Amino acid sequence: MTRKEEFSSEGGCTCRAVRYRMTSGPLFVHCCHCRWCQRETGSAFAIKAMIEADRVILLSGSPEVVNTPSNSGKGQKIARCPICRVAVWSNYAGAGDKVRFVLVGTLDDPDKLPPDIHIFTMSKQPWVVLPPGMPAVEEYYDRNKYWPAESLERRRTLFP
Ligand SMILES: [Zn+2]
Ligand SMILES: [Zn+2]
Repeated sequence: MTRKEEFSSEGGCTCRAVRYRMTSGPLFVHCCHCRWCQRETGSAFAIKAMIEADRVILLSGSPEVVNTPSNSGKGQKIARCPICRVAVWSNYAGAGDKVRFVLVGTLDDPDKLPPDIHIFTMSKQPWVVLPPGMPAVEEYYDRNKYWPAESLERRRTLFP
């Protein structure tokens, strides 16, 4: 896996005004098949890498934060390039500003971060076929059951 401390990956928006670097591997990678992610991406799912906000360093540009309605009703703050409007990451009310959900598709090498789990498969588009043995849940899940111990430990540091 790529969840090692030496992991480092850069990414950014389409016009390259916003560039960022993840300084470590993520806590966990969601592939979300909810209708909200389908609408926001115009695609079948969204791949989001959860990571401590201070492990995402802004290299250039200043993303504009757009308050966007979310499934929970509490809203999602989506950080977008102010020029090309591509979304690079978001924060959800649940984990707050300490955790960013980096949109894996904006990484220069998105192949580095395949999903750890598929969520909200109840609205998965029927042509999307998940690999056998892949963790998948109808809605959300209990992180204690799925996250590696190292990620749970990192989260405890974040939320003592
Ligand atoms: Zn841009
Ligand atoms: Zn979703």
